[in-house]
Amino acid sequence: MLERLDPQAPDALLALIKMFNDDPREDKIDLGVGVYRDEEGRTPVFRAIKAAEEKLHETQDSKSYLGPEGDSGFVNGLMPYIFGDDDPTRGGRIAGMQTPGGTGAVRLAFALAQAAGGKSVVLGEPSWPNHRQIAKDIGLDIIGFDHAADAATTDFGALEAAIEKAQPGDVLLLHGSSHNPTGIDYTVEQWERIAELSKAAQLVPVLDIAYQGLGEGLEEDVAGMRAFLAAVPEAMVTYSCDKNFGLYRDRVGAFYVLAADRDILDRAISNANSLARANWSMPPDHGGATVRVLLRDADLTAQWKEELTAMRGRLRWIRDTLAKAGTTGAIDLTPLGEHNGLFSMLPVDSDQVAALRKDHGIYMAGSGRINIAGLNESNIDRFIAALADVTG
Ligand code: PMP
Repeated sequence: MLERLDPQAPDALLALIKMFNDDPREDKIDLGVGVYRDEEGRTPVFRAIKAAEEKLHETQDSKSYLGPEGDSGFVNGLMPYIFGDDDPTRGGRIAGMQTPGGTGAVRLAFALAQAAGGKSVVLGEPSWPNHRQIAKDIGLDIIGFDHAADAATTDFGALEAAIEKAQPGDVLLLHGSSHNPTGIDYTVEQWERIAELSKAAQLVPVLDIAYQGLGEGLEEDVAGMRAFLAAVPEAMVTYSCDKNFGLYRDRVGAFYVLAADRDILDRAISNANSLARANWSMPPDHGGATVRVLLRDADLTAQWKEELTAMRGRLRWIRDTLAKAGTTGAIDLTPLGEHNGLFSMLPVDSDQVAALRKDHGIYMAGSGRINIAGLNESNIDRFIAALADVTG
């Protein structure tokens, strides 16, 4: 029977990682894989996380099952960061559950919208490739549109046109901040306008927050999303702790629903629980429990914020340095200074991507997406010169 299966294309980024690892050049540069890197190219465990793990180790007295909703202390502990200190439940209209990474939360959001009658996902592209894959796997169509109008600004007209094509109940997927892969975000005013459009079209907004704190700040990165939530009757939020707590492989995420009233909220959460049971039964505990311990300890929370601020500062230095370089070869790097987070797109074709790899040991996705965190004081000038070499 299994011979009936067609082989699937391997994940392009994983293939890139393998090529990078096999490259013997000492000065090779990895701009492919989507994790934060420090100045030495490492992705270390946060010190605050290590300390919280030790505390968890000392105090945890059982590993008995939790439920499909996971660790509620973790889920509720994150809420003030996402929704604000001032009544994070919005008068009992928001509740959540833990998920295996942001990926699990996105899957749950799409599946719940589909269970409520949604048929399509309105999706600005390029996007995180799994948005499309999860929608397809669940059986939702995509109403795609161009996310960016140019190297620096979102294409608001394209978003409006896509919303017009959607039916009531369809999903509107929006990146909370630090858009993956363009780094180009909506302004708070645009968020407010999108909320009106979404409400008028009766869409189900899914706000995907995977990089809170890596853009402009913990609060700044959710300002648009909060303005949006203040203006709509219902929405879902999918959250990843894998970047801003550095927990990647521990798979730490959360899913929240904003509903028009408490009764609808209970119905939505009971459906989400049932979907979670059929998918993964319950989420892995360790990472969520660690974040709970961290957020309940004022010193560890302060240390986590300090580490996150240092990460953000490094990313900002890289962006400022690239922007200051101006035009290199045929590429204007100035807009990268305006982008947020780990990623930006370079206007390079597949031949130029191949030449960067072959001639300069610089590895990036075929799409031209770069993870700027692979750059540092000792390689950034060489990167800028290599771009001139292959595009000049
Ligand atoms: N949403 C976006 C936009 C992402 O970029 C990612 C992953 N990088 C996720 C969700 C999923 O994150 P996780 O690794 O926690 O599953």
